[in-house]
Amino acid sequence: MSDVGTLVIFGASGDLTKRLLLPGLGSLLGSSDDRESALADDLVILGSGRSEKSTDEWRSAVREGLVEGGAGDDAAASLAQHADYVAGDPTDKADLERILGSVTGIPVLYFALPPSVVTDVIDVLADIELPKGTILALEKPFGSDTRSAAALNRKIAKIVPEHQVHRIDHFLGEPTVLGLLGMRFAGRILEPVWNAENIERVEIVYDEQLGLEGRAGYYDGAGALVDMLQSHLLQLLSIIAMEPPISIDEDDFRNSTAQVLKATRVWTGEPVLHSTDAPSRRARYTAGTIDGRTLPSYVDEEGVDPSRETETLAEMVVEVNTRRFAGVPFTLRSGKAIAEPRRQIEVHFRAPAFVPHGLTGKRVPERFVIGIHPQVFELDFAVNGEKDPFHLDRATLETEVASPELTQYGEVLRGVLAGDPTLSVRGDVAEQCWRIVTPVLEAWRSGDVPLDSYRAGSHGPTDWR
Ligand code: NDP
Repeated sequence: MSDVGTLVIFGASGDLTKRLLLPGLGSLLGSSDDRESALADDLVILGSGRSEKSTDEWRSAVREGLVEGGAGDDAAASLAQHADYVAGDPTDKADLERILGSVTGIPVLYFALPPSVVTDVIDVLADIELPKGTILALEKPFGSDTRSAAALNRKIAKIVPEHQVHRIDHFLGEPTVLGLLGMRFAGRILEPVWNAENIERVEIVYDEQLGLEGRAGYYDGAGALVDMLQSHLLQLLSIIAMEPPISIDEDDFRNSTAQVLKATRVWTGEPVLHSTDAPSRRARYTAGTIDGRTLPSYVDEEGVDPSRETETLAEMVVEVNTRRFAGVPFTLRSGKAIAEPRRQIEVHFRAPAFVPHGLTGKRVPERFVIGIHPQVFELDFAVNGEKDPFHLDRATLETEVASPELTQYGEVLRGVLAGDPTLSVRGDVAEQCWRIVTPVLEAWRSGDVPLDSYRAGSHGPTDWR
């Protein structure tokens, strides 16, 4: 059983709560692992928002969300029966005190709110006495630049200690990325070649077919760089390039990932994309068709301000300046409305220094792929061909990872309700991620990097490699 008594969801009427949080809690409740499902037992789910909602309305939304995520009907009905809803503006001190007055046991305060509102609520929370052990769960983006992230961290530090703060990044719970820990640190095959001597370049790619999907309110102010690269993809990088931690706990694991990000900066070696001081590219989609679905041009989507020049495809190259990886370009890329989804990490190995004369054919590059969706591992390597035993050919070893029982947000909530922040973003790391992208953001704002365009349903701008 969890020590947490109440899960307070600020922003209970929002998209995140409906689509991800309640189903995530449902997957936890329905888990076959008793320790996991017990975390959600007896929990009071206290929804809050400025809009009025009857307790019954909220309870049925909770029940539906829990069942959708995999909770059994009885367990969902039982938890929903204890759920409560308190209307109020969380940025108003009297309202916030009233909302928190309904809390029993240790509360988790989950901020499913627009980022600008979160800062205001934190300001108000600083003047309110909170129950001992209160846990804060904050969504991305955390701040809007290095300074604001640092300021937010300072404010939060006055409210609760760091280990009670969960800066959520559900990519940190990706099963294949975490699976890499076992492959590297509990085996002999991968770790000896996991370095700049053997690895030529790494690509971390998250291209999706989805377009804006009505999320202009948030996305048009963020764009692909902030929405994906600054947060999710840098977190993936931190695990790919980490040194072996002494143990997988909140201190050792996060110290290792933090070291990677501290050592990361935009690429300064030979030009990889083109010769700006911030090697990066950006583009925005125009009208097109994907799988028979017609997408309007991004600038014609409702709520988009074209003058913002928001990119829907972003690419940047960074270097991890550690003994292990100095000199290896890591390309981070994410785009919307791309023809074929490509959501994976590709590790490209260097060509061998010597190949025996007589082994003919083209060199087959060795490549290790860590698939995020689908969740697979693939290893491409050279074998001798079928017809001519001395002619090189390519073979791929592939293994699929079993789908995890918990949804990504089930995993997030497991950590939050267990009070274990190992798979959440530490304060200093949130600041480092902004520091890393700052030169790119500045180059884009000053117009140093052109905003290219690509047709929705294409692979990106035609002249990009
Ligand atoms: P929404 O835009 O749906 O807003 C959530 C709720 O916040 C609204 O329903 C509204 O509730 C409340 N709200 C809005 N403005 C204010 C305000 N000025 N003062 C007080 N409350 C306000 O956001 P999402 O649910 O999409 O996202 C919430 C957070 O989660 C964001 O930080 C987002 O970046 C993050 N996130 C979202 C994902 C998603 O897929 N939606 C995925 C990953 C992260 P009411 O009007 O009832 O008060």
